[in-house]
Amino acid sequence: MNAEGCRVAWRRHRIVEGLLWLLIGAEVLLVAAITTHVVATRFSLRVYLFEGGYLLLVLVLGVIHGRFCCPRCGYRFNAWGPDGGGHNSLARVCRHCHLHKWQCDG
Ligand SMILES: [Zn+2]
Repeated sequence: MNAEGCRVAWRRHRIVEGLLWLLIGAEVLLVAAITTHVVATRFSLRVYLFEGGYLLLVLVLGVIHGRFCCPRCGYRFNAWGPDGGGHNSLARVCRHCHLHKWQCDG
């Protein structure tokens, strides 16, 4: 992958990772709001749908984030193998070629 493609790949990965952390951080407020809502009113279908949609969005972003391929070697950045073995979402270097996170060659 050339340097421009590498930068684009990292930029997309950074956006997905930022959204994921934002959603995970918002979950604390979301749980508090839903708990308050449930206590104050009767549990409604809207709460299930909202929370289900939220969890689906976190799941999709988590899968996209976890399947990110290293711009240098092309293998999964956070896992040892193609099936996700040894996955570490917080890895700072590629688990295959040791490219540092956010780094591009050249
Ligand atoms: Zn790599």
